[in-house]
Amino acid sequence: MEKTNGAFQYCDQLVREFEKVVKKPILSKSSVYYTGVDLGTAYIVLAVLDENYQPVAGAYRYASVVRDGMVVDYIGAVRIVKELKQELEQKLGTELIYAAAALPPGTFSLDSGTIKHVVQGAGFEITNLLDEPTAANAVLKIKDGAIVDIGGGTTGIAIVKEGKVVYVADEATGGTHFSLVIAGAYKMSFEEAEQYKRDFKNHRELLPVLSPVIEKVSSIISRHVNEYRVKEIYLVGGTCCLSGIEDIIAKQTKLPTYKPQNPMFVTPLGIALNC
Ligand code: ATP
Repeated sequence: MEKTNGAFQYCDQLVREFEKVVKKPILSKSSVYYTGVDLGTAYIVLAVLDENYQPVAGAYRYASVVRDGMVVDYIGAVRIVKELKQELEQKLGTELIYAAAALPPGTFSLDSGTIKHVVQGAGFEITNLLDEPTAANAVLKIKDGAIVDIGGGTTGIAIVKEGKVVYVADEATGGTHFSLVIAGAYKMSFEEAEQYKRDFKNHRELLPVLSPVIEKVSSIISRHVNEYRVKEIYLVGGTCCLSGIEDIIAKQTKLPTYKPQNPMFVTPLGIALNC
């Protein structure tokens, strides 16, 4: 279900701008640049904003340096963030100094040190380390509801009351499981299944194949949101790019479920906004 009452106006505009600058960076004369570093299970994304918090550049790379929200390949993570930083610096003709990063819900005490060291090891001065749902909500601007972030390895659930995150959870089911289901059903390798899944042309055909795993994600969501009498669900994360996922989640959870036009870049942009 797409929200039509302007609820995603800011989000959609920001993401649209970001998609443009990923392809063609804007050479601005900004006095300062803010970078958001999103270290995910499937992707590492860097989003760069100017002094007015407008997107000027961005880059992302498929990587498997994080698993279940934890950095499992420290050297690889530093290398990729450094390479993306250098690529963007070359394009913008300036050094990127400040960065913020985020962690999945519930992993703060476990992994915040590592993420900080990755960002610093890549040459950034770290200004903020926040939780992913708070980052996402800087873009979504939700007052009450649940933000459900279906990423590569995990599904993060955050309950927002009066604009503040009051409850978080992270469960180990995400897009990787979707790809495994496709690999099994179509006798493909995992990499082929990933590619097949990411092609929007295949979504209609894939939805029935993926229904059981989406229903599983829905039951996880229900388990967390029911106690809090959540009235609406807002979807972010790359897996929510899957066309029609919102309808299955809405049906299973019996809650109105909304997603912005491109749910994948919401969190990285929110991280940059909090830099
Ligand atoms: P996590 O949040 O679990 O640490 P992450 O931050 O890497 O992982 P995202 O970047 O939000 O997660 O999403 C990655 C997932 O989104 C991958 O499983 C990827 O296959 C999936 N994905 C990306 N684009 C699409 C698309 N167009 N259609 C379906 N799935 C997609």
